[in-house]
Amino acid sequence: MGTLSIQLESVNESPRRFHLESDSDWWEQAREVLCESDVGLCAPFALELSGYRVGARLLFRGEALGAVDLRCGRCGESYTHEFREPIELLLEPSRSQSDAPKPGIELDAEDLSLGVYNGDELNFEPVLRDILALAWPMQPRCVQGCRGLCPVCGTNRNRTGCSCDVSEGSRPLAKLGRLLEESKRRGR
Ligand SMILES: [Zn+2]
Ligand SMILES: [Zn+2]
Repeated sequence: MGTLSIQLESVNESPRRFHLESDSDWWEQAREVLCESDVGLCAPFALELSGYRVGARLLFRGEALGAVDLRCGRCGESYTHEFREPIELLLEPSRSQSDAPKPGIELDAEDLSLGVYNGDELNFEPVLRDILALAWPMQPRCVQGCRGLCPVCGTNRNRTGCSCDVSEGSRPLAKLGRLLEESKRRGR
């Protein structure tokens, strides 16, 4: 089973590497939060970090990695979407005076590179989830410049060409279709 936690005492003044791997339970929860409950995992999400402390401040730098099964918004084919997101994180000890501040890490709502920590265990679960929410593609594409489906015959144009006439004049509804697509895009 993977874990996304680091013991505070293992972060020293000299930088060291941390490999944190999420387990399937984490993904089950994260995909609910992301409203992507039908998306399957291809490679578990992990954090490759280098971390050290300066006084009570903790600095982490590295990447979030993982891959999921997505469906291309143009051609409708499913494909593996790989994530490789850079991370830079500065954590300060929480100054919260409330009776029982929540243990773990809480990211700044405005700036995901800042956060506070509490207690002696650094749980990166919310960090990974926030990074993923930000990096999640609004318009999934199987490849950059996916050619989509032919509007006339429905052929997947990434695989085979067709000889349909797709010029504006031959398709009275082409302009309407494009307008619809644009307004959909703007609506997101
Ligand atoms: Zn595609
Ligand atoms: Zn065609």
